[in-house]
Amino acid sequence: MKKILIALLLIGFLPYTQAQNSVIKSPDQNLSVELSLKNGIPNYAVTYKGKQILEDSPLGLKTNVGDFSKDLSFVDIKLSDIEKSYTQNRIKKSDIHYVAKEAVCTYENTQKQKIFITIRVSNNNIALKYALPQFGETACCIIEKEATGFKFPQFTTTFLTPQATPMIGWKRTKPSYEEEYVADEPIGTPSKYGVGYTFPGLFHVGDNGWALVSETGVSSLYCGSKLSEGTKDGLYTVAFPEEGENNGIGNAQPAIALPGETPWRTITVGDNLKPIVETTIPFDVVEPLYEPSTDYKFGRSTWSWIMWQDNSVNYDDQIKYIDLAAAMGYEYVLIDGLWDKQIGYDRMPSLFKYAQSKGVDVFLWYNSNGYWNDAPQGAKQKMSNSVARKKEMKWLQSLGVKGLKVDFFGGDKQETMKLYEDILSDANEYGLMIIFHGCTLPRGWERMYPNYVGSEAVLASENLIFTQHANDTEAYNASLHPFIRNAVGAMEFGPVLLNKRHNKTNDGGQTRKTTDIFQIATAVLFQSPVQMFAIAPNNLTDCADFVIDFMKKVPTTWDETVFIDGYPGKYCVLARRHNNEWYVVGINAQKEPLKLKVNLPMLTSSKVAIYSDTKDRKPQLEEKSIKNNKEVSLLIQPEGGIILTNK
Ligand code: CA
Repeated sequence: MKKILIALLLIGFLPYTQAQNSVIKSPDQNLSVELSLKNGIPNYAVTYKGKQILEDSPLGLKTNVGDFSKDLSFVDIKLSDIEKSYTQNRIKKSDIHYVAKEAVCTYENTQKQKIFITIRVSNNNIALKYALPQFGETACCIIEKEATGFKFPQFTTTFLTPQATPMIGWKRTKPSYEEEYVADEPIGTPSKYGVGYTFPGLFHVGDNGWALVSETGVSSLYCGSKLSEGTKDGLYTVAFPEEGENNGIGNAQPAIALPGETPWRTITVGDNLKPIVETTIPFDVVEPLYEPSTDYKFGRSTWSWIMWQDNSVNYDDQIKYIDLAAAMGYEYVLIDGLWDKQIGYDRMPSLFKYAQSKGVDVFLWYNSNGYWNDAPQGAKQKMSNSVARKKEMKWLQSLGVKGLKVDFFGGDKQETMKLYEDILSDANEYGLMIIFHGCTLPRGWERMYPNYVGSEAVLASENLIFTQHANDTEAYNASLHPFIRNAVGAMEFGPVLLNKRHNKTNDGGQTRKTTDIFQIATAVLFQSPVQMFAIAPNNLTDCADFVIDFMKKVPTTWDETVFIDGYPGKYCVLARRHNNEWYVVGINAQKEPLKLKVNLPMLTSSKVAIYSDTKDRKPQLEEKSIKNNKEVSLLIQPEGGIILTNK
């Protein structure tokens, strides 16, 4: 891992008191937040280039030691400039420069108790949080309700995915952020389960622009929150988990020590989608919580479970997938659930040794259980408590295992957020990277936890094995993720299924609708620093050589990400850079071929390899040079893809 460089400068700190109505503008003056106090309730409104994004939206908290959501009076506001540069080795960009205006606005309630609201406005992002002081001897409180709202104009349409109700779905494992998105829905439409929507939520505010609402900086010190159901007039508020999550154990409302604060709520705003695809706000406003214990290395992995399923988690099939990883030059193999029974603890050391002899390191699967669902796969009861966890991790470290994939969590309560953090923190003591599945959205975790790698929190590739519907909607879903789910954090999707039929012998099961080039384009389109690719041993011989060669050299970490064109639910074209290698990738979810003219300044004058689909949906590779300042014509087949690279 590159050394993390942090420079935090507070320049021009000018405390002064303003009137109750204050306007905070981004450094480029385009994004504007207007604070006001209306009938004792703090409100904020947002415009971008003078156009309304959020109408007056409430702010405030109700706690069990004081109500900060009404009858407030304005005390003062302090403005300052924030400037910060940092490097990050596992997000969409490596060198980040964050510049913002910060306002800390103080209000007090009728008991003269104070609340501080911090609002940061950078060029396309707003981050806001609350802080409370200690009140006399009162040094802790429960946050009963957050008033924080996002009130969009009536003509706004939404791109949201519902939160599932507790303890439903397979083996009572929900909510697990594995629900479908509905694109371009009218504001205020009731959600599937009636308990709101998971972060992030994308809002299309007509011609005024776009807004992506999320949160970051959520650790063991708070719950994961969500968006409430929307009202008919377009108000969505921050809502806490459902009481029944985590098998009803633990409070749905978070508690904080005093003085203390909430996580950041974030709104990314633009008059187009570029700021949303490229945003780094989840990482800009958080800091690493501990030092890495070792130099964590990211990379590519094979995993048998995706195409060969449960029965393949046996010794001999794992050897085949280790050999596949070695043949591909991949860094890792993932040994999935049931290894404890089907291979057995006794035989794991020799399997690890075999992998290591091939230059392949190991990720190993664990169930997070626990008492929060009925998921039967092992290894179980090893990650759910500190005593068992440390013993297991010590054993894994002694055998050279490099990472764990921990699955089936119990919701978003503070109780569960503590489990995520405890697993991450303990794993760092034993040099282990962590991937979460069946889990919540990561909220700034790439920066907060140095050994955190990625989270599922999406209807991932396993669904392509389970249902034809997932294959029929594969391109549609892929065209949403860069704008929504993957815009705020690593998405451990397990992409690139090169079998045409999704079973071991490539002749039965679900039928893939997308092309080979679509599949390999998702290796770049979907961002996660360790990618569990879903290729199978037969693909070495039944796919075009240049498709496999592409998969041998594709990187998983990026220095830059540039949005080029797209619309969520229809298509997406973006570029990512790894060192000097640029990868421009596009996918088309529509029923007709997509013709685009785009500028690709990153690829001009170089020899460019172009991977695309023929009319009859076969992969092809050409080499061309792209001239300076000339528009490039792209043709992307329905449910097809394109890749242009100078590598
Ligand atoms: Ca899953």
